Amino acid sequence: MHEYSLAQSLLNSLLDYLRAHPVPGRVKKVHVKKGELLILSEWALKEAWRILAEGTELSGSELVLESVPVRARCDSCGYEGNVRYLAEEGWHMSVPVLSCPRCGSPVRIMEGRDLAIVGLTVEEPTIKSPSD
Ligand SMILES: [Zn+2]
Repeated sequence: MHEYSLAQSLLNSLLDYLRAHPVPGRVKKVHVKKGELLILSEWALKEAWRILAEGTELSGSELVLESVPVRARCDSCGYEGNVRYLAEEGWHMSVPVLSCPRCGSPVRIMEGRDLAIVGLTVEEPTIKSPSD
C-alpha cells in the first residue's frame, strides 16, 4: 500500500518541521497538494494518516487534499505550462498527455507527481476563564 508510506513520509517531515517551528495550538488540518500524476486513493491516504498520527502531536489532525495540475517544460521549444488532456466519454478522469502542446516533443514534468504540505490550520489555544 503506497498510501501508507506516503503518509508516513509526510508525517515524518511535518513532525520534523514542527520541532523546529512550533505552532501555538493543536494542528487541526494539514493542507496537502497532490499532483495529478500521482495515482492514489485519497481515502486510504487519509486513513493511513489518521492511524500513523495517533500518539504523535498531530493526533486527530485531518489531511485536506488539493489536486494540482501537471506543469511541464519542453527543452526543444521552451514551452512551459500546462499539458493537454485526453478525455473520453465514460472515463472517470482525464489523462494528461506528456508531450509538448506546441511542438510535440516529450516534456519534462516540473510539477504534478508528488505530495507537498502547503499549509496548516492551527486551533487557537483555549483561554480558560477563571469562572469555569
Ligand atoms: Zn515544445
